Amino acid sequence: MNKTIGDLVAEIHQLHLQLREVQEQMERGPKQVKARQQAIQQKLADLEAQKQKHKALRIAVDQKSLQLKSNEAKIGDLRVKLNQAASNREFDIIRAQIDADTMANSVLEDEILDALEKVDAAQISVRQLEEAVAAAKVEETRLAAETEGVIPGLEKRITELQQALATAELDLPPDFMLSYRRMAQAYGAGALAEVEGNICSSCYVALPTQLAVQIRAGQVLFCKTCGRLLYACREAT
Ligand SMILES: [Zn+2]
Repeated sequence: MNKTIGDLVAEIHQLHLQLREVQEQMERGPKQVKARQQAIQQKLADLEAQKQKHKALRIAVDQKSLQLKSNEAKIGDLRVKLNQAASNREFDIIRAQIDADTMANSVLEDEILDALEKVDAAQISVRQLEEAVAAAKVEETRLAAETEGVIPGLEKRITELQQALATAELDLPPDFMLSYRRMAQAYGAGALAEVEGNICSSCYVALPTQLAVQIRAGQVLFCKTCGRLLYACREAT
């Protein structure tokens, strides 16, 4: 066989990298769906808070309106009393009371108008949040279906890559197998690193000349800095 162990490891590393990419794709989809679900929960909490705010504002308006009605009734009673006043002094006192109550009601009316505007604004916010929740749910459902849809294809690809990897590994020399297995099991694609221009592509440290020469000749050796198994960049050999 003409292939050096370095060539073999280069092929094996490519398969490891592809496998890692597909596995990451498998994990990415569900993570994105979960993030959308969390965002929906947050929006629902915002919506609930806004509904409570709207309700509180409505209650405040109702209370002020009741107050206004009761004050108007009181002024009505005072007018009756005014007509029945027994003295000028009593008349003046009742008159002053009516003026004060009328002024208070005018202030109350302004407050009610302000409060009604706030109720309307809160109602608009509630509607906007309801729309945002609905849109987010539609998007989450779409993404979940899309994520679910690609899983069989990704699983198939993973099986294919694992098989190709197992086949390629069969060609590795038995004396190298132990170091390789130990490293690959612990670090996956990260167990291996290419050497480009005498630099380890994992830790970017320049290799000692002797080590670089051996690797260029097709051997696979450990990087003394980062501990990866190093192989020569194939374009360079
Ligand atoms: Zn290194």
